[in-house]
Amino acid sequence: MITIALSKGRIFEETLPLLAAAGIVPLENPEQSRKLIIGTSRPDVRVVIVRASDVPTYVQYGAADLGIAGKDVLIEHGGTGLYQPLDLKIAQCRMCVATPAGFDYVAAVRRGARLRVATKYINTAREHFAAKGVHVDLIKLYGSMELAPLAGLADAIVDLVSSGGTLRANHLVEVEDIMPISSRLIVNQASLKMKRGTLQPVIDAIEGAIQ
Ligand code: ADP
Ligand code: MG
Repeated sequence: MITIALSKGRIFEETLPLLAAAGIVPLENPEQSRKLIIGTSRPDVRVVIVRASDVPTYVQYGAADLGIAGKDVLIEHGGTGLYQPLDLKIAQCRMCVATPAGFDYVAAVRRGARLRVATKYINTAREHFAAKGVHVDLIKLYGSMELAPLAGLADAIVDLVSSGGTLRANHLVEVEDIMPISSRLIVNQASLKMKRGTLQPVIDAIEGAIQ
């Protein structure tokens, strides 16, 4: 049996064509069925539905052989026990620093101000500001980062942006681009050794389907 860990929403939707190339079609849509374990058109393959940030954990411990996770999530997890053979080029966005439109970020950095930064991405943010020599107090949040500067919790946020629509709607502007983000295929290292005969053809088929 091969187990693939996926999250609902955009990653599930954008993964479907890649799995189809390997002859793997989930038998139910997790948005509708509420099932957490979903069979596929291949009797030897199943999908488990987990929170996006939990995908690397399932694969690290071998509860799933394969998974698909954003680079954002993989950086925070650290990647222990995982092979990351393919950039799938799906769920593309970028990690950035954003502030309220009226905040002079460049001037604050230049005078060496200590900034309060709210984010779900503590490791990414810590590395980014350390590399720039900017002093920050990081505040861990689990969602709705855009609210933090508006409510007076922080001067800035580190968050994912694609169109910029959510930032604009909350009068925030992107002041620094940190890195491009997309989702990766991740593989349990022991699984790849023990089940190479079944896993490698799946990995190759997915690779052939990347746009
Ligand atoms: P959650 O709400 O559980 O954090 P999301 O569905 O928002 O999960 O995000 C799952 C993954 O999709 C993220 O880890 C990231 O890699 C990617 N992602 C998040 N926001 C965007 C976006 N605006 N555009 C494209 N990809 C995104
Ligand atoms: Mg989200």
